[in-house]
Amino acid sequence: MALILVVNAGSSTLKYAAFDGVRLVRKDQVSDLKNAGQQITGWLSEAGLQISEFAGVGHRIVHGGTKFIKPTRVDERALAELRGLCALAPLHMPFGLDVLAELRRLIPGVPQVACFDTAFHAAQPDIARRLPLPREYHERGYQRYGFHGLNYEHVVATFGEKIPRRLLIAHLGNGSSMCAVLDGKSVATTMGFSTADGLVMGTRSGSIDPGVLIALMRDEKLGADQLEDLLYRHSGLRGVSGITSDMRELLASKEQTAVAAVDYYCYHAARHAGSLAVAIGGLDAIAFTGGIGENSEIIRGKILAHLSWLPAQVHIVQANEELVIAKHVNALLLQ
Ligand code: ADP
Repeated sequence: MALILVVNAGSSTLKYAAFDGVRLVRKDQVSDLKNAGQQITGWLSEAGLQISEFAGVGHRIVHGGTKFIKPTRVDERALAELRGLCALAPLHMPFGLDVLAELRRLIPGVPQVACFDTAFHAAQPDIARRLPLPREYHERGYQRYGFHGLNYEHVVATFGEKIPRRLLIAHLGNGSSMCAVLDGKSVATTMGFSTADGLVMGTRSGSIDPGVLIALMRDEKLGADQLEDLLYRHSGLRGVSGITSDMRELLASKEQTAVAAVDYYCYHAARHAGSLAVAIGGLDAIAFTGGIGENSEIIRGKILAHLSWLPAQVHIVQANEELVIAKHVNALLLQ
């Protein structure tokens, strides 16, 4: 079997893992995002592994746009094209690509493979995929892409042949989204053009009336960068509570705005779940995943209480984007 390094550069953490084929050898997570490539190579040599001996490196890349819809070996040209997608996921893309570029420089002979969070949704029907804008905007890339696809793939794979026909997957973490899965395929999801859409998140707003954005620009004189900062970093649980974006801390707090923010999160998550159930004609099962979805019985219970009229089996699946990436790199290198 081949040694594979997996790098998962998130918005606030850097996770890396070494696999022998699809067997996990070692993994770690840091919140110090500086000199990522050197940190990773240092971490490997501590374990007696030489990065130059690896068969490939797999990266979680949040956005593949319309072109990158399957795992791709990244050369200089692909890297430049991917850089052009940074504005679509400003919390994740620049850092993820910087790490990839740094590792290309450090180990030029080892293939770097990008695996995309958008890919799982690429075959959604046009009715789910299209934004209600004039058609030329769609051709220019203004579409609903969807995200968290690597973990959705993992959840689907975990069910194997026993996958419920109409499955709702709730990926609830700092970033949160839900996906309606029919016979193992994504047919609709709550994140759309960007990772700011859909559910209320730690610091992201989720879906918001477009008229508010126009008013913020016109009346509050916010420019694009300020709007981005507001909607990606200061909204969601952080904004509504005025305290923190961290669900565990909110659940531990007695402050009225913390309690209100938790209720707000669950109410809106359930409303999105109801909407997704329409896309698959009802629900057989709900699978919770992600830091909040896996660990918080309280949040699961509150969301499910809003959905008591829509009974479904409940499953909990531990998120594991790294394993999916390792599988993809293995498959690509064996071709
Ligand atoms: P990311 O999207 O960055 O990968 P995670 O999936 O790790 O994030 O989820 C982080 C969130 O999970 C935080 O809001 C954290 O407070 C929450 N969380 C983790 N454990 C618990 C728990 N036991 N109860 C409630 N929330 C939890």
